[in-house]
Amino acid sequence: MRRDALGSGCHASTFCMKSPAQSLAMQIREAFPPVSRPPDAELTVHGSDCFHCSALIDEFKDERGGTFSPECARWLIGELSLLSPSGFRWALPSYLAAVFADDADQDLGEFLAYHFCGDLRADEAAEREARVRVLSEGQIDCLIQVLHLVRSNLGSVYFSDVDEAITYLNLRKTMLAEKAGAGQPATLPEAKS
Ligand SMILES: [Zn+2]
Repeated sequence: MRRDALGSGCHASTFCMKSPAQSLAMQIREAFPPVSRPPDAELTVHGSDCFHCSALIDEFKDERGGTFSPECARWLIGELSLLSPSGFRWALPSYLAAVFADDADQDLGEFLAYHFCGDLRADEAAEREARVRVLSEGQIDCLIQVLHLVRSNLGSVYFSDVDEAITYLNLRKTMLAEKAGAGQPATLPEAKS
């Protein structure tokens, strides 16, 4: 069953050289050079002692390359919060690419937004911050643009959730830009002392 995930955008792409989705997919490939997959013990936040984390590790046991398919990206729907920062950095470009796949599952875009909005427990919020901290300004910008595209193309998403996610990421991007402007290494926010 093939779903027209990008709505009218798909029709536009037959007339334009490059659709917004295609140029964004290219920008994602440039902003996210593939990184090595973390070992199983470092893929998730809690490791194999946790029921949920060990289930995710098991699903990704055969995915050892720099990228994985949109089919595998579906295993992460609603589970992005189980990824460690290095697991998140490894998985994110493949996940974002899956949002644009021809038969994209709309849940991929929706749950990307849900990951960056809502009230979290303090420990969950800290884990999410740690995930965002491994990203560069350009990578966060890709995330924001993907969410804008999700917002404009996938009508089933609650706009307020996507807007909250975009606001959250814009703030992190601004913080990174300010740090870079102050000449501090943007990837080491704690290295003050
Ligand atoms: Zn866990």
